[in-house]
Amino acid sequence: MPRFSQRSLDRLRTCHADLQTLMHELIQYFDVTIVQGHRSVEEQAELYASGRTKEGPILTHIDGVTKLSKHNHQPSQAVDIVPYPINWADTDRMYLMGGYVKALAIKLKEAGQISHDIRWGGDWDGDTEVQDQSFMDLPHFELR
Ligand SMILES: [Zn+2]
Repeated sequence: MPRFSQRSLDRLRTCHADLQTLMHELIQYFDVTIVQGHRSVEEQAELYASGRTKEGPILTHIDGVTKLSKHNHQPSQAVDIVPYPINWADTDRMYLMGGYVKALAIKLKEAGQISHDIRWGGDWDGDTEVQDQSFMDLPHFELR
């Protein structure tokens, strides 16, 4: 059975209890790395710069000043995860991961083990269509 690395666990501990419960359930079926939980306002600004004042792709539409990311809350209301071993080019596997997370989240909420619905950056409006989006954030899951 897959297990979280210490680094993943440290990052996960910065997240809301519902996200921790969900990720501990997920790891029993799907090996993932926790890339980020809480993100400071400084880190948000750094991320926002990518594709704007810094070279690279647009990674977020939230500047951390006029609007806070769900990652900027304490505890974090969002978590970023990727399948392990990490291959950022393998978006197919990220969609598979998203399906696992969404299904587990529905079951956990129905069982009363988490209290929030979970929104995924691969299907922001939750209509199960993944091609009706203008901005993809496949590693991102947040409390609704
Ligand atoms: Zn995120």
